[in-house]
Amino acid sequence: MKIKAAEFVMSNSDVAKCPTARLPEYAFIGRSNVGKSSLINMLMQRKNLAKTSGRPGKTQLINHFLINKNWHLVDLPGYGYAKVSKKSKKTFQKFITEYFKNREQLVSAFVLVDCRHEPQTIDLEFMEWLGENQLPFAIIFTKADKLKPKALERNLKAYQEKMLESWVEMPQYFVTSSTHATGRDEVLNYIEQVNAA
Ligand code: GDP
Repeated sequence: MKIKAAEFVMSNSDVAKCPTARLPEYAFIGRSNVGKSSLINMLMQRKNLAKTSGRPGKTQLINHFLINKNWHLVDLPGYGYAKVSKKSKKTFQKFITEYFKNREQLVSAFVLVDCRHEPQTIDLEFMEWLGENQLPFAIIFTKADKLKPKALERNLKAYQEKMLESWVEMPQYFVTSSTHATGRDEVLNYIEQVNAA
């Protein structure tokens, strides 16, 4: 897919106020610093479409971008657990769960994972939560340039093994580097194919 247009639409913290247009929507989510803004800017070939970490005012907001006038890219904030009593099951911040449960336009989420790190409980639990709620997602491993090919392969294998403890098969995944534009065509072609299906 060629990116001909990428425009910021709106930011808000309430799923009810998200754009009403019935356009297919893809949401990018991950822990803060995973490389989400860099990835979005790389995919869209824009320097500052998504604001990179360290800039104030972007926390807790659902950010909509209109791409090629026919689909929405959503930049969700870094997730964390909601503060609930220790006894109850861990859950995620309310506006994130509300977004995923109520946003009918959502086609697929991309859960971003830093390829250098061991599988993190919060990411695994978030993907389980998506699965329990029948919400489609793909994994995007970020910062692939930071590892040598052998180490990258080792980490991906370890991640797959961990996933297979709770999933029947490894979900669709992509390996990306924002500094080298690795994985750009793969992610965009995936979105194009899903949109066309
Ligand atoms: P966010 O908090 O998830 O939006 O993360 P950012 O996109 O702001 O990235 C966090 C840090 O990781 C920044 O210092 C980026 O320059 C760096 N970073 C992000 N993606 C990559 C990548 O693909 N390769 C390298 N080497 N650094 C990256």
